[in-house]
Amino acid sequence: MKILPEELKDILLKSGFVSEKDIDSAVRAADQIDRPVSDILIFRGLITDEALAQLIAEHYKVPYITLKNKTIEQTVLDTISESMARSYRMIPFEKNETALKIAMEDPNDFEALEQARRRTRLKIIPHLASSADISRGLAQYKRNIKQVFEQIIEENLKKAVKTGDDLARIAQDLPVVKILETFLQYAMAEAASDIHIEALESSVVVRFRIDGVLRDIITLPRSIQKAIVARIKILSELKIDEHRIPQDGRFKFTMDEDVVSIRVSVIPAFYDENIALRLLSESTRPQPLEELGLTGNNAKIVSENLKKPYGMVLITGPTGSGKSTTLYSILNMLNDPGVNIWTIEDPIEYAINRVNQAQINPTTGFTFASGLRSLLRHDPNVIMVGEIRDNETAQMAIHSALTGHLVLSTLHTNSAAGAIPRFLDMGAEAFLVASTVNVVIAQRLVRKICTACIEKFKPSELELTVFKEKFSGRLEKQEFYRGRGCQECGGSGYKGRVGIFEVLAVSEDIRKLTLKHASLDDIEEQALKEHMISMLEDGLDKISAGITTIEEVLRAVRE
Ligand SMILES: [Zn+2]
Repeated sequence: MKILPEELKDILLKSGFVSEKDIDSAVRAADQIDRPVSDILIFRGLITDEALAQLIAEHYKVPYITLKNKTIEQTVLDTISESMARSYRMIPFEKNETALKIAMEDPNDFEALEQARRRTRLKIIPHLASSADISRGLAQYKRNIKQVFEQIIEENLKKAVKTGDDLARIAQDLPVVKILETFLQYAMAEAASDIHIEALESSVVVRFRIDGVLRDIITLPRSIQKAIVARIKILSELKIDEHRIPQDGRFKFTMDEDVVSIRVSVIPAFYDENIALRLLSESTRPQPLEELGLTGNNAKIVSENLKKPYGMVLITGPTGSGKSTTLYSILNMLNDPGVNIWTIEDPIEYAINRVNQAQINPTTGFTFASGLRSLLRHDPNVIMVGEIRDNETAQMAIHSALTGHLVLSTLHTNSAAGAIPRFLDMGAEAFLVASTVNVVIAQRLVRKICTACIEKFKPSELELTVFKEKFSGRLEKQEFYRGRGCQECGGSGYKGRVGIFEVLAVSEDIRKLTLKHASLDDIEEQALKEHMISMLEDGLDKISAGITTIEEVLRAVRE
């Protein structure tokens, strides 16, 4: 619900749940990192999502409902389709002949109410629920998946074993099709990035990567592996009878309105062929930079530089640090009917409306460099080059930036300052680098503390060593948080991920250092003098807001 900060402060003070001092401190943190005050209060564990929703419901005189531990009857759930429930963040939870009770994050959303009334032809009684509760409710649409697994396997296993020899036929049989479909649906519902299907001596283990961590999902009988491998090979047009060499392919999968593009890798292993599937969503809307964790002054510097008509915006970090997500968000910010945007990617991870996306293919000679050369003839305003990793691409990117294009790309360096020496190492002329690079963004991903089990704690002196060296003054007033581990987060204490960033704006002085081939340390020192927020400091901001832990930030900056 749209609620003003002053109004929220009023409600909280009256409730006596949170002290004025804590509210003011949360307001300051919220300003610093550009998040709603309510998020900070929840992140810090000062109030639960639930208690907050309850207070707001009381204030607006709407009934409050919690969906925690509530199993909604299937017939009730079916009154509103999953896609409608997701887009309006509403869950039907109780029904009689004439009326339907609906849990909503914003019971004043009149469009949502009207749509629900039309769809169900029932009187709609809106209730306010917490944001976490709505997410929990949405998951109920997918609750039967584990059960589905067990059922299909039990019913059909015998049949699959009997016809064991004819692989192609087994693969076309319904059970394997359905089992694989169930894996994919479950993975999408859990927002998993990868699925691993690995054969052991007497079983098959299926694991999902969620928030960067692999988790065992289910163990299946060993006899099913060959059929699953065959089915995946058919879908991705690989050779079914080739078992000795690795094969790569891809296929698409659709659930409701969500489309995922799936990259397939089949590798011969000791017991059988193992499979790794990488899921790339084609329908996820790119998130705003703030949601990715690029906030406050960092966000300001980036958006100022995106307004410049030409020059280069570089994103750096190791593999898996979230660079492409940031690139896609930026492209989306720039995506306007009057702007001609081209990308050259490897691979294309998300499709973007009205953006011309090209996939490199070195076997046909279509590389980053040659692609850049030919697309310049298409009169683009903005060009995104997936990665600059060789001299030829570096030269072409610089040339494009010099001739009036805004060029976005990624480099493989650890720090923002490191991008400049790296560029020079690739053989680019110092004066060209100095006159084209406008801003460098370095980033890492850290896991977010689970808001359902967050708690305050006092870290040991040892844990704080790294921060003490640099931010000793700040540490005295600092609070620290962690997740205890609960059902919501599978015991890990974490749920979801967010970026920590370091944004280097290339100033006059940094241009001069570039011309002199200055070292990484000298460039970094100058940037810090000009108030660049180091990645460690951005991490500390997110630690004090209760978003992440000391452990996560230290792990990420060491990568
Ligand atoms: Zn938890």
